[in-house]
Amino acid sequence: MNPEMETLFHHAVIPGSGWPGDPASETTPVAPLAGSVSVLANSSPDLQELSARISVCRACPRLVAWREEVAQTKRKAYANETYWGRPAPGFGDDEAGLAVVGLAPAAHGANRTGRVFTGDRTGDFLTAALARAGFANRSTSTRAGDGLELLGARLLSAVRCAPPKNLPTPAEQATCAPWLDRELDLVSPAVILALGGIGWRATCSALARAGWELPRPRPKFGHGAEFVATRGGQESGGRGRGRARIAVVGCYHPSQQNTFTGKLTGEMMDAVLHRCRALVKGGGDY
Ligand code: SF4
Repeated sequence: MNPEMETLFHHAVIPGSGWPGDPASETTPVAPLAGSVSVLANSSPDLQELSARISVCRACPRLVAWREEVAQTKRKAYANETYWGRPAPGFGDDEAGLAVVGLAPAAHGANRTGRVFTGDRTGDFLTAALARAGFANRSTSTRAGDGLELLGARLLSAVRCAPPKNLPTPAEQATCAPWLDRELDLVSPAVILALGGIGWRATCSALARAGWELPRPRPKFGHGAEFVATRGGQESGGRGRGRARIAVVGCYHPSQQNTFTGKLTGEMMDAVLHRCRALVKGGGDY
């Protein structure tokens, strides 16, 4: 075991130590500062390496401290579990037609299980909806290595570490953005489902940075809102080199606050996923 990794991840799962689905090894390069995120993201040759680098990132001191503190103190119900305590990389199909962009991992969800949208009520709600829409092989998402496979879909988040009160600062969102940019570039989905206002704004900003033309004025977030961004002759390092159109659909975030109050129901989630399915089937010709 690499002693440097053991020291760095003393309060989290040590990279390459056998956690199911851990994409990192003891030699994965670690981003220690904000400036190193874009260097490591842009030089990631594929999704496997990108996921590995995301999963060991330490560029935001406040979030690193928080995710590891949560991993140490734990919630009573999970007191006997080992918490992941590291950033949650994207999960799902490498060649997904649909990318689902959320806000950030939950302290006792992905920060515990090591897999985005896994191990909490939000993940339960979203996974069940994805399964009903044919984007997942099962309707539950409880832990890494539970057999869940996404079918033509990939889950990612604007910020990869659990933030206190689920609120990353604008600076932390900016620091994490290169990971999102590179993942979208490599996956090159035909459709992005943006969850919540932060997911929507992060998606719009990522597309703008990648040279996509968005409608003006920039579209406002709403449940069921959608727009198409275009670009011509834009070089892309991703699978979708040459893709000229991408659709973005908005959906209320499936947080407990929204699902318990009925602001977001299963039927509403089904409707937007049904729409996404149709857009993906359109193959970029909306
Ligand atoms: Fe790195 Fe993003 Fe986590 Fe910041 S939020 S430490 S940039 S993975």
